[in-house]
Amino acid sequence: MNSNIQPLEFNGDWNLSPSLESTDHIDLKDKYGLFINGGFLEPLSNKYFSTINPSNENQISLIAEAGSEDINLAVKSAKDAYENVWSKMPAKERSKYIYRIARLIQEKAKELAVIETLDGGKPIRESRDVDVPLAAAHFFYYAGWADKLDYAFPNRNPKSIGVVGQIIPWNFPLMMAAWKIAPALATGNTVVLKPAESTSLTALKLAEIIQQADLPPGVVNIVTGAGSTGKLIVNHKDIKKIAFTGSTSVGKSIMKSIAGTSKKSTMELGGKAANIVFDDAPLDQAVEGVVNGIYFNQGHVCCAGSRLLVQESINEIFIRKLRDRIQSLILGNPLDKNTDIGAVNSKSQLDTINKYIDIGKNEGAEIFQLNCTIPDKGFWCPPTLFTNVSQSHVIAQEEIFGPVLAIQTFRTIDEAITKANNTPYGLSAGVWTDKGSKVFNLTSKLNAGVIWANTYNKFDPTSPFGGYKESGHGREGGLHGLEAYLNLE
Ligand code: NAD
Ligand code: MN
Repeated sequence: MNSNIQPLEFNGDWNLSPSLESTDHIDLKDKYGLFINGGFLEPLSNKYFSTINPSNENQISLIAEAGSEDINLAVKSAKDAYENVWSKMPAKERSKYIYRIARLIQEKAKELAVIETLDGGKPIRESRDVDVPLAAAHFFYYAGWADKLDYAFPNRNPKSIGVVGQIIPWNFPLMMAAWKIAPALATGNTVVLKPAESTSLTALKLAEIIQQADLPPGVVNIVTGAGSTGKLIVNHKDIKKIAFTGSTSVGKSIMKSIAGTSKKSTMELGGKAANIVFDDAPLDQAVEGVVNGIYFNQGHVCCAGSRLLVQESINEIFIRKLRDRIQSLILGNPLDKNTDIGAVNSKSQLDTINKYIDIGKNEGAEIFQLNCTIPDKGFWCPPTLFTNVSQSHVIAQEEIFGPVLAIQTFRTIDEAITKANNTPYGLSAGVWTDKGSKVFNLTSKLNAGVIWANTYNKFDPTSPFGGYKESGHGREGGLHGLEAYLNLE
């Protein structure tokens, strides 16, 4: 970097008075059973594990670990509900239940947001303004489609599939449950869903909402546990489709185990997206977008803009602006409304992120991190960026799933495209430029399912989401998301 351009002098500690969201109004049990056939049951496995708050390592609740008898029961209740109730119900009646769930999520928005933040570590501003509203929006959107499937797919005789198994990760626990459950119900299927083991609580609160909505028993079953419970769902003979969101390695193992069966699948897997910033871009807005792209939810975002490709002519000024902006971010208690950067979701994820930071340093990249006080307890990673990164560096190729940005430069559009496409992934990308023609040129040449132009990490239930290459197959959201839960002629 040019030594004339110095970052802001700021020690990273704002000393704002805390503005903590209250936890008085939330209702959490010490222990949760499995939500099967409309009620909470003790697990037949007799096993429980604890879920903790990653910002202070305190146990919040005990969660049931479903074993094979439990999964058999859950699938049986979903199959009975499919055959006897849900597949026979007129579509407009189905949609009433889905609307009811959407409205109950809105009513309980504050409670859900606080629990999401307690259990997962994300800042309350994000769970309040992004996760919970989007979860409700997904139910509203798909409720509207339930009785219009013949218009969505004219002359194709849309038919439901049966019992679907759904397995989701810990980065957007409630929102991922909504992405999965809402289209499955709208299309007349019944569900066995498993949340991630570190963040089961909002899915269990959703189970309570589903009870309050009077959804017929067995239409949605929510079973908790880790990978071994997930495998039992994948391999159950009466599961007709697997909808999985998670890591590429687990996605591959699921594809192997269902190969040769008639099970359908959609896979939303990892990513290594590039944000591409051209010299004609509005730089301050691009800085905001890049920061949001990689540091939103501590970088625990499959479509995170974890690489930055910046045009060489603006590299120096852009990196300086980026460093200044990073230095103004606030890391701390996720329940504090001032907080920008919350806790990393788990000890094991923090270990993974730190392993990659060490690799980046050993590969010769230059590191810059927010200089701030790290709380004594909990799992924390300050926003980090690496410059002097080359295409072959591990930190430019592999998904880190943390707040770590790998920065490279480019001179020409072709070079930007080649570099952006040069990873095993293809989930998302971002383009920052003043010129619409450049945007359209790039969007047709980038191998990515989602491409944002002059914005980043924006989600909407009407628009399909999903990847190319090792980022998976199938789409969620929009009409494409409905199609994934139907047999069409
Ligand atoms: P993970 O693959 O370890 O776990 C995801 C889920 O699968 C969890 O519920 C887990 O219990 C379960 N699971 C683990 N092993 C299993 C097995 N063998 N069979 C069946 N289920 C199993 O992923 P994670 O660490 O929870 O989440 C992070 C990953 O998810 C990242 O790679 C991220 O990119 C990806 N992700 C992708 C999207 C997307 O839409 N493309 C969205 C969010 C997260
Ligand atoms: Mn937790």
